[in-house]
Amino acid sequence: MTGRLDRKVALITGAASGIGRASALLFAKEGASVSVVDRALPGAQETVAVITKARGEAIAIEADVSSAADVERMIKRTVDTYGRLDILFNNAGISARTLAFTADLSEEDWDAVLDTNLKSVFLASRLAIPIMIRQGGGVIVNTSSAQGIGGGPLVSPYCASKAGIILLTKTMAAEYAKQNIRVNCICPGMTDTPMMSAYFSSLQMDFIPQGRPGDPEEIARAALFLASDDASYVTGAFLPVDGGWSAQLVVPYKQGP
Ligand code: NAP
Repeated sequence: MTGRLDRKVALITGAASGIGRASALLFAKEGASVSVVDRALPGAQETVAVITKARGEAIAIEADVSSAADVERMIKRTVDTYGRLDILFNNAGISARTLAFTADLSEEDWDAVLDTNLKSVFLASRLAIPIMIRQGGGVIVNTSSAQGIGGGPLVSPYCASKAGIILLTKTMAAEYAKQNIRVNCICPGMTDTPMMSAYFSSLQMDFIPQGRPGDPEEIARAALFLASDDASYVTGAFLPVDGGWSAQLVVPYKQGP
C-alpha cells in the first residue's frame, strides 16, 4: 500500500505528547521516517516504540527547541541517520507559565514562552531551509493556535508567540517558494492533550461552535494535509482546526428582560 509520505523524512518537535505524538504516529503510518523530538527523552522513546511496533520507522531525539545548540544537534542527527530532511514540523510549545495580565508579567515569563514557541521556529527553520534547498525542496509546518488569531486575557505571551508564528510562516513562504519550499501553519483550538485537559472541567464549551474540544488526531490530520503533496499549491496559509472557535465573535446576549 502506498502512503502519502512514502520515502519522506519528517522531524516533529514536541512529539512525546499530544498533537506531536499523534502526528508522529500518523506521519509514520503514511510512510515517513520520523525524528521524534522532545525535551523529555522517555516520552519520545515511547512514541518511537508505538511506531516501531506498527512496523514504522522512527528515532527519538532529546532536544530543547529553544536552545540553538540542541536544535543544531536534532537536525544533524536526523540528516546523519536518514540522509535528508523533507518535512520540518515545528510543533513544540508551552502555554503561558503564569496566568496574569500583561503589566503583572515578569520578563522571565515573557521570554520563556516566546523562546519556546516562536524563537524555536526560527532556530529550526534557518537550519532546515538550506538543507531543503540543496535537496530541491521541502515542507515546513508550524503549530500556531486559534489564540494566534484572536487574543485572550491572561495569556499575552502565548498569544503574541502564536501570532508571530503566523507572520513568520507567511514571510518564509514568500521568501522560499521559488526554491520549492512550502511553509504553512495550523491553528488548533481547544485540543484534548495534557497541555489543556486540566482546564476542561472548568470550561463550558459553548464558545466553540462545534461544542467540543478537538482530538489530537484531528489536528494531526490537518498537519498531514499540509505536509503532503495534497497541499502542493498551498503555501503561506494558516489553517484553523478549531471547531469554528476563531470564526465567530461571541456576543453575550442578556437572558430574559
Ligand atoms: P503537549 O501535550 O504538552 O505536548 C507538547 C510537547 O512539547 C510536550 O511533550 C512538551 O514537553 C514538549 N515541549 C515543550 N517545550 C519544549 C521544548 N522547549 N523543547 C522540546 N520539547 C518541548 O501539548 P499539545 O497540546 O500537544 O501542544 C502542541 C502544540 O500545539 C503547542 O505548540 C501548543 O501551543 C499548540 N496548541 C495546543 C492547543 C491545545 O488546546 N492543546 C491549542 C492550540 C495550540 P513538556 O511536557 O515537558 O512541556
